[in-house]
Amino acid sequence: MPKDPIVIFRDQHTLSRANISPNALKVLYRLKAAGYEAHLVGGGVRDLLLGREPKDFDVATDARPEDVREVFRNCRLIGRRFRLAHVHFGREIIEVATFRAGQASEETNDHQTDEGMLLRDNIYGNIEQDALRRDFTVNALYYNIADFSIIDYAGGVEDLRQGVLRLLGDPETRYREDPVRMLRAVRFAAKLGFRVAAETEAPIGDLAPLLADVPPARLFEEVLKLFLGGTAVGSFERMRQYGLFAQLFPQTESCLSELDHEFPLTLVLRGLENTDNRIREDKPVTPAFLFAVLLWEPVRQIAERLESDGMLPYQAIQQGAADVIALQLARVSLPRRFGTPMQEIWALQARLSNTRGKRPRRLLAHPRFRAAYDFLLLRAAAGEVDSGLAEWWTAFQAEEGETPAVAVSEAPGRRSRRGGRRRRRKPAPAAQE
Ligand code: ATP
Ligand code: MG
Repeated sequence: MPKDPIVIFRDQHTLSRANISPNALKVLYRLKAAGYEAHLVGGGVRDLLLGREPKDFDVATDARPEDVREVFRNCRLIGRRFRLAHVHFGREIIEVATFRAGQASEETNDHQTDEGMLLRDNIYGNIEQDALRRDFTVNALYYNIADFSIIDYAGGVEDLRQGVLRLLGDPETRYREDPVRMLRAVRFAAKLGFRVAAETEAPIGDLAPLLADVPPARLFEEVLKLFLGGTAVGSFERMRQYGLFAQLFPQTESCLSELDHEFPLTLVLRGLENTDNRIREDKPVTPAFLFAVLLWEPVRQIAERLESDGMLPYQAIQQGAADVIALQLARVSLPRRFGTPMQEIWALQARLSNTRGKRPRRLLAHPRFRAAYDFLLLRAAAGEVDSGLAEWWTAFQAEEGETPAVAVSEAPGRRSRRGGRRRRRKPAPAAQE
């Protein structure tokens, strides 16, 4: 790795200040005026160089968090282990992080540094150390507000040109430090349409089981980014290819890898395609529907067995749901506000198969009817249920004066706060690591 960075001067790159959020620019200029180094870093630089619209803008500086707070009144310090400054501008938050050195490896953990400081997980560092602790070369570029140049310690500009996602440092070590980097590799490859460098790709198959050590709540956040970021199909296919999907959704993977039927895979693919389309059209999406899609097949198989043992369909689905959720939550958490509507979508599948008497009309008023009907359409499209049933419900709604939604992958009345819509600005604090 080169010691001296490559510096790309302002007339040799395409990153223009016109595309940086005015608030991020304010933060950069004010830090500079106060005598600090200030750089735009990470996804913001990467996406702007690719001509894409960044999700948010992160700033890196040599100012300590307390110094940052001195410069900005609208600033809050967050995080205990590693403090970050959040500068608030209405709903937009600019995250300002002090340069830090990488995570210590096991051998260096107890070593004293020159200053006699105990080397911990996270210590302040210089810009070079800050660059080298990042995950991918294309995420380690700095846009220096002092002279509008781009500073590249890791060959990120060349990788950006080539469309290559390359982990910094020794891949196995970096994945062991943080197994979520395997999922990030998949996510960025899918989102940017990049190929994963051979050495970055190679260890994933063996190391995928390390994801079992990652807290389920963090994996939930990652799953939302993977599947509600507009490239769910690409993420899903790569995750399966690398054996990562099996780690996060083991019950689903074992259903999908049974080769007897096509429909479980078709259902997932169609569901994810719909999700991608909705995001492209700027329509809302919810984790409840997403997880309903991802976990349906294991639920359905259990329910089918219980039903053939004589249980009523509705109860069989409830029981299947309970069994599947219990195992699933040990891997990826699902907050109750999404878990409850997900179960309702499933439970309603039993009630949708009954088209006689007064029941259908009553069902139309159910708050989860729309989502459940969309889900039925998906099942029909995948060839799992008779498409006549879905058509019946479509016609019935038309008779009742309802406008049936076509392939809407959303639970009504619930706009997802967390995932979903591509957001222009960072509306809520997001932990970096
Ligand atoms: P996007 O926000 O578009 O998903 P991003 O690259 O900005 O992509 P973030 O999760 O916002 O990703 O993280 C910001 C930056 O922090 C990254 O670009 C990377 O430099 C660094 N980073 C984030 N997570 C990790 C990690 N697990 N290991 C090392 N560096 C990380
Ligand atoms: Mg980001």
